[in-house]
Order: sequence, then structure tokens, then C-alpha cells
Amino acid sequence: MSMHRVQFQPGLSLPDFLAQFGSEAQCERALEQARWPEGFRCPECGDAHAYVLQGGSRKIFQCRGCRKQTSVIAGTLFQSTHVPLTVWFLAIYLINQAKTGLSTLALKRHLGVSYPTTRMIRDKLIRTPSEPDSNYTFQGNLRSTSASKKSVQSRKQARDA
Ligand SMILES: [Zn+2]
Repeated sequence: MSMHRVQFQPGLSLPDFLAQFGSEAQCERALEQARWPEGFRCPECGDAHAYVLQGGSRKIFQCRGCRKQTSVIAGTLFQSTHVPLTVWFLAIYLINQAKTGLSTLALKRHLGVSYPTTRMIRDKLIRTPSEPDSNYTFQGNLRSTSASKKSVQSRKQARDA
């Protein structure tokens, strides 16, 4: 399974982070970009075309080839948790920022979720590199500038045309 990168700019300030990743839609878009940098690919048959359905709060992609439905979190460590992507992203950001480590209790206070949820998030993120289902790495530089957003939009328009 290939690796996908959700990367934050080094030294990204908290206000900048929140401006870029403060909403569920922004986080979902960032994951979509990390997972399919060249545009949608069906995980089942590799088809590049999909119908986009709005399934509840999350976008559902239905492959035009095999009709398999997938979401951007399907098959990732974010799947089958009820934790919003905004909380995951904030956890990733805080863990990355705290070079000397961050206790589960400190993380819990920042995230505002329960202790067991915090521990689950922390375990998944920290163990991620060795897990077979880890699709994402979280380091370095998430290019989410307005320029790259524009290029994503134009790629999308080209794909939809
Ligand atoms: Zn397919």
C-alpha cells in the first residue's frame, strides 16, 4: 500500500494552522489531496472517474467503473472512529510541535475529548509507521497555499470536463 503524506509547514503557527485546517471540509480536502494527488483513483479497479455523492457530512466517491463507493478516510487510520478530522489534525499538529513529547493528559486538555479517545488517537498516530494500514505520514510541509489550492481546483475542473 502506498504512503500518502499529510504534511504541515514547519513552524506553522497555531492561528495559521486553524485558518488552514479549522474545519472538517478543509481537513477532508487536505486528505483528498494527500491520498489522490493526481485526482481520484478507485482503490478497487484504479478507475480515475467517480461520481461524488454527499453521504451525510462526508463526500462519497462512487467509481464509474466498478461502482464501489469509497470515502477519503476509507482504509485509513481515520476510518471507523467517530472523531472529527479536525481533532485528528489538531492532535497531529500538537504532537509534531511538541518535540520533547506531549503527555496523553496534556493532549486531552488541548483536544477536548475523553481520555480513552485521546489515548486511541495518540496510539494510532504514534504507532502509525509500523502499522500495515497506515496510509498517512505526518511530517514536513503540507502545501496548502492558495496557489496549490488553485492548481487543485483547475485539475478538478479539467477532470470533470
Ligand atoms: Zn472502481
